[in-house]
Amino acid sequence: MPSVDLVITNGLLVSPETTVAADIAVDQGRIVAIGAPGTLPPARETIDATGLHVIPGAIDVHVHVREPGFSHKETWTSATRAAAVGGVTTVFDMPNTNPPTASVAALDRKHAIAGSQAIVDYGLYGLIGEHNLDQLEAMAQAGAASFKLYMGSENPLVPCPPDGAIVAAFEILARLGIRTTVHAENTPLLTWRGETLRAAGRTDAAAHLEQHIDLAAVEAVSRTAIFAEWTGAKVHIAHESTRHSLPHIRFAKARGVDLTVETCPHYLFLSTDDGGRLGDNFMRVKPPVREPGHAGPLWDALLDGTIDMLSTDHAPHLMSEKTRDVIWDCAPGFPGVETSMVLMLAQVSRGRLTLGQYVRMACEAPAEAFGMFPRKGVLMVGADADIVLIDMSKTGRITAAGLHSIGNATPFEGFALHGMPVRTLVRGKTVALDGRPVGPPGWGRPVTVRRT
Ligand SMILES: [Zn+2]
Repeated sequence: MPSVDLVITNGLLVSPETTVAADIAVDQGRIVAIGAPGTLPPARETIDATGLHVIPGAIDVHVHVREPGFSHKETWTSATRAAAVGGVTTVFDMPNTNPPTASVAALDRKHAIAGSQAIVDYGLYGLIGEHNLDQLEAMAQAGAASFKLYMGSENPLVPCPPDGAIVAAFEILARLGIRTTVHAENTPLLTWRGETLRAAGRTDAAAHLEQHIDLAAVEAVSRTAIFAEWTGAKVHIAHESTRHSLPHIRFAKARGVDLTVETCPHYLFLSTDDGGRLGDNFMRVKPPVREPGHAGPLWDALLDGTIDMLSTDHAPHLMSEKTRDVIWDCAPGFPGVETSMVLMLAQVSRGRLTLGQYVRMACEAPAEAFGMFPRKGVLMVGADADIVLIDMSKTGRITAAGLHSIGNATPFEGFALHGMPVRTLVRGKTVALDGRPVGPPGWGRPVTVRRT
């Protein structure tokens, strides 16, 4: 009689430390045994992973699912299908929806939408605003996985709170033991420069870069670290884009600030030189893709741990929203959740990093930083069976038309791939197979985060 639900046989299990040939047994959604090939109990289902690498599902802590409010760009169905095909088994959804996720009611509404559609697991960000500080604890109790602070914002839906409110929020979240993710740019600086550039009649793509100068990020990273240091808050720097922040990040970590950092593929693979290929306005993203000379130091920092993890800032828009003539009218951001793993696997194939290093930055590090380890982000007994099978010999190309996001305006069109996920499991159920989403709607569940 079969004694477990599933056994994955003959694969190569990858962790940050080692790669070993081993089988995995799964029962009731959890990994219940890992052993030498052929030694595990009989199962109701067997997946033969001969020739494949087996890694934990990637965790993307920076995803804009867009729903409610902007479902013409993306829905919980389309975003989590894209995630599943891309080897991402947990997404953290940002609160700049409409309504913003700034109250228990908004959080409850989003939980209901996500719960009916998602095919991968998810965490919901609550918004830190000037006027909802009294809601933060209740939102945490209602299941907010983390909180987002827009320290750099021109968006009236999610305005930047004044420093007084930021420090007050950090004091609350330090007490609650919840990490806060920060869009670290200096809002007054962005506002003044943006108004000045607009007044001068600038509508070109370079004006966006001139508005979002490196200093805006460097100052805000430093201020975030100092506020965290003084309040004891745990903070996470979103989408690091500039090499000039790196010394300040290292200084903060050396002082013992509980600060983690992410960067995204568009900062690792693109520069302003790509504007010619894509159209300069298409490149608009906040913070901006910068001049050549930043990607190399960001890669180095990601590999040496100064930058802890890889996220995507998945921010889908329609092609028509990204190709307007006036730069200020071009929607900022790109879809990313489906293309991040394949972009990095191509670099594994080229020897730029190891698969173990990828597992560290995309699976283990986000699970640790956001209180999910060792339930997620790792292949070990007791962990959720969030598992991705990878065929390192499989090749292909990224095309917008092939993506599962509604807003599929990718800057990685035509990128050559070598190494692709071929099967994604969330808590033991296959949710994507050979590039197709197959998970049942509503299979995804909210994550449980440990607060310390
Ligand atoms: Zn974002």
